[in-house]
Amino acid sequence: MQALTQLSPDEQLFRSTVRDFARKEIAPLVRSMDEEAHFDAGLLRKLHELGLMGIPVPEQFGGAAGTLFEAVLAVEEISAVDPAVGVLVDVQNTLVLSAILRWGTEAQKKQLLPQLATKTIGAYALSEAASGSDAFALQCRATRDEASGDYVLNGAKLWITNAAEAAVFLVFATVDPALGYKGITCFVVEKDTPGFAIGRKEDKLGIRASSTCELLFRDCRVPVANVLGGLELVGKAYKVAIETLNEGRIGIGAQMLGLAAGAWRHAARYAKERKQFGKPLAEFQAMQFQLARMATEIESARLLVYNAARLKDAGADFLKEAAMAKLVASEVAERTASLAVEVFGGAGFVKDYPVEKLYRDAKIGKIYEGTSFMQLATIAKLVLAEA
Ligand SMILES: Cc1cc2nc3c(=O)[nH]c(=O)nc-3n(C[C@H](O)[C@H](O)[C@H](O)COP(=O)(O)OP(=O)(O)OC[C@H]3O[C@@H](n4cnc5c(N)ncnc54)[C@H](O)[C@@H]3O)c2cc1C
Repeated sequence: MQALTQLSPDEQLFRSTVRDFARKEIAPLVRSMDEEAHFDAGLLRKLHELGLMGIPVPEQFGGAAGTLFEAVLAVEEISAVDPAVGVLVDVQNTLVLSAILRWGTEAQKKQLLPQLATKTIGAYALSEAASGSDAFALQCRATRDEASGDYVLNGAKLWITNAAEAAVFLVFATVDPALGYKGITCFVVEKDTPGFAIGRKEDKLGIRASSTCELLFRDCRVPVANVLGGLELVGKAYKVAIETLNEGRIGIGAQMLGLAAGAWRHAARYAKERKQFGKPLAEFQAMQFQLARMATEIESARLLVYNAARLKDAGADFLKEAAMAKLVASEVAERTASLAVEVFGGAGFVKDYPVEKLYRDAKIGKIYEGTSFMQLATIAKLVLAEA
């Protein structure tokens, strides 16, 4: 039996490799990528080269054959430097790859996994303008063309992370709105498919280097071979969405955990350097207590996130733990980033120091992959059933 934060030698090596990479290769790009709201193409290539875009993919398909826990370590370390890069890595590993690995047909795995692990980016498209928290009220329509067997997609998706960089999109649509959630089907749509277009790119408060776009489908014809999981999963992809998002939530917990740890590190280092009243800020007890409380909150979020990931890797139930991990990590991230801005004083309010950006980036943790209210609803249902 080992403690949650005791890492195996492989996990330690993996974490320190990602940490070094984030500090050397990502840190110099953070400010310009944020200002330009643009993801650096060279960095995308390096993420693939390091194996971070194919963590759970088996070696036979060119991946790293890693665990969800390793994906969590990667997202945490990257997000300590830039949560916008963290979410790109997170969506690829915990949503797109995880859905293909769990639900894809052998032919889909053979076609998609090698390219995603080594050179392309994926996106996961569930939300629409009128269906966010109520995701299964989606309207995007897939109509079967009986002559060819193809499906024809019409409609639009909103808020899709990685859309500007992605070559492969997992798109949820309904084959029959009258069937409610039992019409939901997931399609693999490639970027250059006729009838498919990337729409408006959102101008965001935080994680600005991560693209968030609308997707437009107008008579977009998709072969039946592109139904994720094959014909058996027509009308059953609500399971794909639910189960993938349950896992993805742990990844967002890791993103928020990393953000909090990064903000704390900046705050602590600044407090040790900055002098007022003749001594470093870190020598004032009021400052020490704030930093101690922040460190304690971060550690409790870490335990929740690591536990949820280890449960998932062990094949155990993790739904409640994943919801709790995301809920707490996103709250801790917001509080820590806010306090970090205060520790920096006026310097925390300007863009010359990284905490201003981390404060803006923290807000998204309570919104995507299920808002905090939705996490509370899941937790309430589960704990009350146990009571
Ligand atoms: C930057 C960004 C990236 C995103 N990336 C993706 C992506 O890659 N793929 C994807 O599919 N989606 C993505 N999303 C969409 C995201 O998952 C949704 O925004 C989120 O699920 C909330 O949906 P909504 O925005 O429609 O808010 P709404 O569902 O309209 O919620 C608005 C408010 O009402 C509350 N609320 C809703 N229902 C209830 C209820 N029953 N009881 C109490 N309160 C309730 C919510 O908690 C929230 O506070 C992204 C969003 C953003 C902003």
